[in-house]
Amino acid sequence: MSQEVQDDGMFSRVQATVPLQLRISAIPGAGRGLFVSEAVPSRGLIFRIAKPLLCIVEDGKEALRRTCDNCFAARSGIYQTTSRKNLRAECHSEAWEHHHKAECAVLSRIRQDPQDRVEERVTHKNVRLLIRLLCLHEAGMIPEQQWDEILGLKTLMGAGQEELERQVQFLCDFMASYEVTSLDENVVRQLVHTHFNNNLIMDQPLLRGGLFYPPGNGCVASGICLEPFASMVNHCCDPNSWWTFNGCEFQLRAIREIPAGEELTISYIGITESFKFRQEILLEDWGINCACLVCKQGPQGPTDGPLYERLQNIQRLERESVDGCAPLNEVKHFIIDMVGAGYDFGTWPLRQLYRQIFCTVLSRGNFMGALKVWLKLYYVVDVASSPPQLPDDRLNSLKKLISLIRAVQLMESPLITEDVKWALSYARGYLSRKLCEETEKCFGDIEVAKFEKEQFQMVFGHGAERFDDRARYVQGMKVLLEWARIPDVSESSL
Ligand SMILES: [Zn+2]
Ligand SMILES: [Zn+2]
Repeated sequence: MSQEVQDDGMFSRVQATVPLQLRISAIPGAGRGLFVSEAVPSRGLIFRIAKPLLCIVEDGKEALRRTCDNCFAARSGIYQTTSRKNLRAECHSEAWEHHHKAECAVLSRIRQDPQDRVEERVTHKNVRLLIRLLCLHEAGMIPEQQWDEILGLKTLMGAGQEELERQVQFLCDFMASYEVTSLDENVVRQLVHTHFNNNLIMDQPLLRGGLFYPPGNGCVASGICLEPFASMVNHCCDPNSWWTFNGCEFQLRAIREIPAGEELTISYIGITESFKFRQEILLEDWGINCACLVCKQGPQGPTDGPLYERLQNIQRLERESVDGCAPLNEVKHFIIDMVGAGYDFGTWPLRQLYRQIFCTVLSRGNFMGALKVWLKLYYVVDVASSPPQLPDDRLNSLKKLISLIRAVQLMESPLITEDVKWALSYARGYLSRKLCEETEKCFGDIEVAKFEKEQFQMVFGHGAERFDDRARYVQGMKVLLEWARIPDVSESSL
């Protein structure tokens, strides 16, 4: 059941599953924050916005060609987010009514400029976003209430950023030279800052991403979004919620159970970054001095002594390498010694280092070795990480595990015993069934969930219920973990 936000109907475009409240944030210096008045179950949808204020398609010819400017369905190549062959005919006229009629004249005027590199500049997403925002305002198509929401957003930026200031100045000059708006330059400057401070990356679940082999992380950034209501959610390094997009629909979903009265938080940056990196980027890009519970614990991992020096050396080797990976032996021995020194698998940077080992082993075409590393990651390393992996990241790990099992099966190696062969086959069926359920829990009943169900039916056909037997799966997984030499995995984490 949907409920509107309790805010004088101000945010009527927001569909919330529980009553929400805007009030002073519990985080010092954060200003306003968004709170839930009722509990939200783990992985539950908290609110959705069907049509956010501004959604801009990602840069690049491929992205611009493949993605619908109205509904954000992408239909081509490895970036497929819809199974529809033809994009909806209505989208063209909807996009015209919704935004394009306001910006069309300005865009073609700019494109006609014979000046060098104009075409290249005008395809940049920040430029397109600002042009659209200003043109919509100029055409009187942004309701006053929403315009006030935008002007009320935070513009706080980290100090002393030459590169950022250069970009802000470029955008202001660009808008002025093509007379995009009648607004004062100071307002334009404020809007640029607002955009940089508040835009969200539009991560979309892919229909085929994780099934491709190698990489493919299961999600694609299809563009950027500026939506004042979503910007009310403050940052925490151990957030209780995360966002995703279904087409251009914004969704905020719970990572864990959120009790009534708690403030909603998301992480503005990658959740697995180091303390030092988080503190620096949060301060530089958002002016945030993060003092969340995770940051209060300070840096994880070694901070001085021989282990620290070896870590510094590994990081130097990473930077100097072509593929971002330090030599395999170096990394392996470092992990062994870190674990030997009492650090648990959730400690930064063990998760990153295991991924490096995986990439190196895979790049050598060693599928069996790669599967063994990924089993360790999926069942031991990732589950120990704190803060926990985001739900879509966990889902992508599962997809990767299934495709690695498939790759090893296809090799038909004589080195694989009958026992392991059986275990691989049952695990693949059981985990593929689990993938269908988890996809729906992660994103809701959207196209990607339907797609996974169809894939499962296609591969396993009738009698798919033979993969329902947890006892058999546990038995098989124990065989696989022994084969991969991964001891001490409790049955409950399988
Ligand atoms: Zn469309
Ligand atoms: Zn923090």
